[in-house]
Amino acid sequence: MTLREVIAQAEQRAQLLSQKHGELQYVVATSKGWSCSDLLLRLDQPAETGTQAFVEHAAQQLADGYPAEYLTGYAAFCDIVVRVREGVLVPRPETENLVQMAGDFIIEQDRPSPIALDLCSGSGAIALALAARLPQVAVVGLELDAVSVSCSRESALDVGLSERVRFIQGNVLAAWSLALADFRSRTDVIVSNPPYVREQRLLPAHESSPLEPVRALYGGVSGMVFYRRIIAQARDWLRPGGLLLLEIDDGMERGILDLCERYGLQGGRWLPDLRGLPRYAEARRAE
Ligand code: GLN
Repeated sequence: MTLREVIAQAEQRAQLLSQKHGELQYVVATSKGWSCSDLLLRLDQPAETGTQAFVEHAAQQLADGYPAEYLTGYAAFCDIVVRVREGVLVPRPETENLVQMAGDFIIEQDRPSPIALDLCSGSGAIALALAARLPQVAVVGLELDAVSVSCSRESALDVGLSERVRFIQGNVLAAWSLALADFRSRTDVIVSNPPYVREQRLLPAHESSPLEPVRALYGGVSGMVFYRRIIAQARDWLRPGGLLLLEIDDGMERGILDLCERYGLQGGRWLPDLRGLPRYAEARRAE
């Protein structure tokens, strides 16, 4: 059988939805170390032994809701690739903007040895992509989940950034002075994409990717649990003029900007994602 026939048969047996066919091709190409164009060139050649079993298994896993990134073990994010596996949230494309915004701020400020904190760092994608973009910055990621912390440390080694990017296992909802004492009043940018899905939206979010950790998504009934803590503490951890940058969900922008004001941060504003929905919020500590 040709590779094309093997793939078509696997798609059919697993009843893989047509919108996931591209993911199957991506998983097959990656498992063989091919680019997607290498795959296209090989589609009409006979499939190698063992390929059929692999393709059928992958098709079944995708049909069961596994993200393609769990099958390859890697996710592309900004200019880097990070490790992911079951238990670790796959970084989303809209989160790349946080790296852009944090990087732009650091460049514009042009201060020596800037420090960034990534709270709820998950796979470590934000922290690592920021350090990859800016050779002068040191980044610390704080993450509760042990599997995510291991994954992010492995990625730091993969991309050669383990000297400048450190991941600490700890709870952003607990006392920061334990895990983050060294950074009080010294941080140039606090960036965070915490769990923010509110109760009402949790079921659809979970159903669209049932194997990803709910704990990485759920932000309490209102979705605000993590923001409350982060915003309340941010001023004490930022240096004067430092920036807090958050990924948010639409409908939360007013509540978040009010909290920023209440906790002494200035210039709060939200920014939209590509669909025009409020997706990012920022505020600063006064100079
Ligand atoms: N945007 C993510 C999702 O819907 C949610 C990420 C988060 O809670 N931080 O899957």
